[in-house]
Amino acid sequence: MALLSVRDLRTYFVADEGTTRAVDGATFDLYAGKTLGIVGETGCGKSVTARSILRIVERPGRIVSGEILLQRDGGYIDLAKLDPDGREIRRVRGGEIGLVFQEPMTSFSPVHTVGDQVIEAIQLHRRLDKARARARAIELFRMVGISRPEGRLDEYSWQLSGGLRQRAMIAMALAAEPRLLIADEPTTALDVTTQAQILELLRDLQRKTHMAIMLITHDLGVIAEMADDVVVMYLGRVVEHGPVDQIFHAPKHPYTQALLRSIPGIQHEARVKLPTISGSIPHPFARPAGCPFHPRCALVMACAAAPDGVCCDHHEPELITVEEGHSVSCHLYRKKGAAVPLALESAR
Ligand code: SF4
Repeated sequence: MALLSVRDLRTYFVADEGTTRAVDGATFDLYAGKTLGIVGETGCGKSVTARSILRIVERPGRIVSGEILLQRDGGYIDLAKLDPDGREIRRVRGGEIGLVFQEPMTSFSPVHTVGDQVIEAIQLHRRLDKARARARAIELFRMVGISRPEGRLDEYSWQLSGGLRQRAMIAMALAAEPRLLIADEPTTALDVTTQAQILELLRDLQRKTHMAIMLITHDLGVIAEMADDVVVMYLGRVVEHGPVDQIFHAPKHPYTQALLRSIPGIQHEARVKLPTISGSIPHPFARPAGCPFHPRCALVMACAAAPDGVCCDHHEPELITVEEGHSVSCHLYRKKGAAVPLALESAR
């Protein structure tokens, strides 16, 4: 049973200049004790997906349709239907679902000690007096590997190093023992050594608490290290979804393939220029018709060349299953269950 099921979620930003479909039909599941990596370039909708789950999408953005089903008491509660300012979602936010951002500096108030803020987060979700909440905060700081936790609690966020701030942020996110932790680019602002330590910390915490983690990043190296399953997003759409091994060793979508070719690997010799994805991400108000990736896709099929008249610049592909647990949104695989791209098969 999934801990969280996102079903055909659509979050749009409607402005006078036009509508941005920031999340456009996202569907995926998260399971206890597992990590789901969400990857894609800037503006692909991964952070808006997280903000939609927590119902903290800024105006003029709003969820226009879809379901966000959080498992509770043997059933599900649909977060998409909750009042974003209501009591119920506040119970979920920071309670059942914890959140870690890229830059903890903006999440901590500079005029209060980190301890006061962590204690406040604890008291928001647990009925503990100040002394017990402080003891719990010390325990949490210790759990996330902060040495001298008693002293650190009385410091301000600007007195801490980047790595310590991120650890304190994780401690605050764990205050209410969430079942799901959403980590949005948690290591992007950190140096490589600290990044590795924070990822190890998250893995360790997951082993101890069995919480689910939704890890949002543009960094495929982080995904490879951390994720059990991967969702690849492009222009608000889920273009590929599957187990991490299949995504890395047998990627199906041309966008996933291009992303993987663009990261340094052992097959690339030093000083060899890595291939980049041709073209640029379209302006949000000028979303291409048909497959949103078609202006940049090396395998784009024009109508005349398409084997059955379904072509990339006219028809938007559906997400179809190519193997168990592995789905892709691309006309090349349109024949149900085709492991061989349709275009290649018809050319045989
Ligand atoms: Fe490329 Fe067409 Fe597949 Fe889109 S549907 S990724 S344009 S082959």
